[in-house]
Order: sequence, then structure tokens, then C-alpha cells
Amino acid sequence: DRAPAYRGRFAPSPTGDLHAGSLLAAFGSWLLARHAGGQWLIRIEDLDPPREVPGAAGRQLDALEAFGFASDLPVVRQSQRHALYQAALQRLLDQDKAFVCHCSRSDLATAGGVHRRCVAHGPRAGHAAPQAAVRLRVADAAPVEFDDLVLGRQRQDVAREVGDFVLRRADGHWAYQLAVVVDDADQGVTDVVRGADLLDSTPRQILLQRALGLATPRYAHLPLLLDAHGRKLSKSEAAHPLNPADPLPALRAAWAALGQDPHALVAVETVMQLLAAAHDSFSPAQIPQAASGLAAMHNDPG
Ligand code: GLU
Repeated sequence: DRAPAYRGRFAPSPTGDLHAGSLLAAFGSWLLARHAGGQWLIRIEDLDPPREVPGAAGRQLDALEAFGFASDLPVVRQSQRHALYQAALQRLLDQDKAFVCHCSRSDLATAGGVHRRCVAHGPRAGHAAPQAAVRLRVADAAPVEFDDLVLGRQRQDVAREVGDFVLRRADGHWAYQLAVVVDDADQGVTDVVRGADLLDSTPRQILLQRALGLATPRYAHLPLLLDAHGRKLSKSEAAHPLNPADPLPALRAAWAALGQDPHALVAVETVMQLLAAAHDSFSPAQIPQAASGLAAMHNDPG
């Protein structure tokens, strides 16, 4: 069947309950998908058991439903998709685009945290060899550039600023970068819309798409919510719990944070009315840029 012209997604990690910042990403990605007449998916990114909270994925899905958001296709869970990640990793290893790395944290620290080449060759004698990390070989090449729908032209020299990055961690868990690239491609995602806290990962994901011969989707990074002290909201999310039983105020707040006209939602009384009114009056050009950029990224002034 034909690939859709627009397929977006919201991809929460079940590390806690849905908070105002994640609602913003859900609403923003949903609005952009619907504005384009496209599909919108939910994917649960449950690949990091040490950071996950039992039951959180189910509560996130329940909360999304209460806020009116349903995936157009069955919800996918990354924990069920190890074979896909393994196949991608093996392809990169076979093509010598990835390598097994025995460098320790202290090896990396002496290189300023940027992995350029392995200083440790093979597991150390006398140590019970832990499982080693697998990294992507990042060549010295022109910086990665892309046009972000919200933030404009972005650029990062991945070799210099990040180095060879991890695809499978030494503890055996898949790195977010590998899983997200494999899944976005496998699910036919054309548009990645997410919080600006992930802006810094996008150039890595583009390099990985190129190494795997995958298409690069369009990107839009949404402004982060800040608390009254200017801190990223997720750090203090406990102070801002969302109440799925009273969804309208949180949806109105997210709408305002997306730079949209509050008057459009004044008369609505139900979630479905709110989403319909939001769909009708949504203007992507009104989405504000992130309040503060990342050190590794900058807008091209030219
Ligand atoms: N799972 C990631 C997170 O919750 C988001 C992944 C993405 O949107 O690319 O931070």
C-alpha cells in the first residue's frame, strides 16, 4: 500500500506519568499531523528498564485517551521489537560502520567525553569482560545540517561534538538513537515532532539514517515548558501533575504554549470540541522557538 504523505508520532518513555511537557509534545505532534491531513501514531519507548516505572506506560495511554488522543494504528512497544534493532546493528557491524568498543568511562573522560577512536583494544586482561558497547563510526565530515520547521536551519559537527556514539550499551540495552531511527523508518514516520530537549539528538539520528540507507524525515522541535523559575518543567513535574479527570485546563495551557490563539478554545466544553476547534484554527507558523538553544546547536543567522 502507498506510503502516507504525512505520518507523525508521539513516543513517550514510560519513566513516569504524562506531564505538561509531554502533553505539549503529544498535542503539538497531533495538531501538525491533523493540519497536514495525516496520520498520528503512539509508540511506547520502553527500552530502558532501569529508568522505567511499573505501570507508567498503561497510565500514559489512559491519560492520552482522556486528553482525546488515540493512535491511528495499534500502539507499538519498543520492548517487543528487539529483532529489528538487532538486524540493523548487525548490518552496520557487517559493513564495518559500527564497532565493538571496550573503552571505559575513564578512557572517555580523558578525551573530554567525545569518542574519536578506541584507546582500549579488547577486554582488559584480568577483568571479567563485561558486555561491550557497540558504537557507530562517525567520520570526520561536513557538519550535519537540517531545516527544523520551528527552529530553522540547524547544524552540528557530530564527529567533533559527539564522536562515535553508542548504539547498544555495555549493559546490553539498546540506545535510544538506534531504536528511534529503526522504528521511525519501519513505521513510515515522515514527520518527527518532539520537544526541543531532543534537538541535540537529531544530527546523530540523521547520520544513522544515512548509514542504514534510510530516508530522513522532516523535523519540528517544540518549545520546552519552563517553570516559574525558568527551569525545564520535567525537572519539577511532580509539582505540576496532570489531572486526566479535568483535561481542558491542561489542553488550554498546552495550546497557549504552542503560541496559538486562546480565543479559539473559549467556548468549548468537551475534549472532543476542544480538539475540533484546535484543529480548525491551528497555525503552525505561530509555534514559538525554544526559549533557549542548546550549546551544541545554533540557528544559522544567514
Ligand atoms: N522517548 C523519548 C522521550 O520520551 C522521545 C523520543 C522521540 O520523540 O524521538 O523523551
